Amino acid sequence: DTISIQIFVPRESLIMKEVIGEGEFGSVYKAIYQTRSGTEAEVAVKTMHSSHMLSNRDSFLEEAEVMMKLNHHCIVKLIGISEDSKGSLMIQELVPLGSMLTFILRHPDQVNVDYELPVWASQIACGMQYLETNKIVHRDLAARNILLATRHQAKISDFGLSRNLSDNKEYYMATKGGRWPVKWYSPESYNYGKFSSASDVWSFGVTLWEMYSYGQQPFGEMRGAEVIEEINDGNRLEKPDDCPVPVYQMMERCWEYDQNRRPSFSELYDFFASLTNYENVRDLV
Ligand code: ATP
Repeated sequence: DTISIQIFVPRESLIMKEVIGEGEFGSVYKAIYQTRSGTEAEVAVKTMHSSHMLSNRDSFLEEAEVMMKLNHHCIVKLIGISEDSKGSLMIQELVPLGSMLTFILRHPDQVNVDYELPVWASQIACGMQYLETNKIVHRDLAARNILLATRHQAKISDFGLSRNLSDNKEYYMATKGGRWPVKWYSPESYNYGKFSSASDVWSFGVTLWEMYSYGQQPFGEMRGAEVIEEINDGNRLEKPDDCPVPVYQMMERCWEYDQNRRPSFSELYDFFASLTNYENVRDLV
């Protein structure tokens, strides 16, 4: 927290290091950011190659604009944007352990259903509650878009599809379909292009399923159209083997067809916070 948000970061103040991830429009690098006051901080730099800039410049800037307004320990912080000869750069807080999904797949032995998973779930719900308060729908909540700062701090990232609701309770998006993550989407989203915090709750349920199934792909190899049919028939993802029954019941409530019957993020936060008891926390210190 030594660096304050500065909208435009001069390219000369960034020393690029290794690639730490691949985004849709360019690589993500680790970098050193030298601030004007002389302090140095490790940051993540998301690049967008200029070949994508013509068609995607607006969405890149929109993502930055949404993130700029947010300040919460469960949400990846935006430090600023920059440019170089190859395209645009988005400078973010470095979240050292990378994607939660990759971590769960690589280190299942370090991920417990009665500790790490409910801790992360409560942190995601906490960040989502903050987004809801700020009238933002995320629209791409999934295990691949949660990053881990430490084994005990999850952060929501990837605001590429997020939208500001301004004074509305929901947002309608032309159903162009295409690259929509349908397996994570609520019926009102894929049917009517309608997005709200309640549709984010549906995606939160699918994210929980990915976590408690230790990184399995929801609905396996099924195609989007088949998944939609399953949901319309009243079928839902099954309880993962290691998932406690109360947690699965909460997932099922996130997948209520009627959006008004789903739990709120504040209820989800309370539920998962209550599962992470003090005894376990003390063991870790
Ligand atoms: P997609 O839309 O396909 O999910 P994207 O273009 O939005 O991809 P990101 O998901 O933001 O790209 O980033 C890709 C990868 O880079 C992440 O999975 C993660 O491993 C790494 N990464 C992104 N941001 C950070 C960060 N702030 N700190 C550490 N690693 C990061």
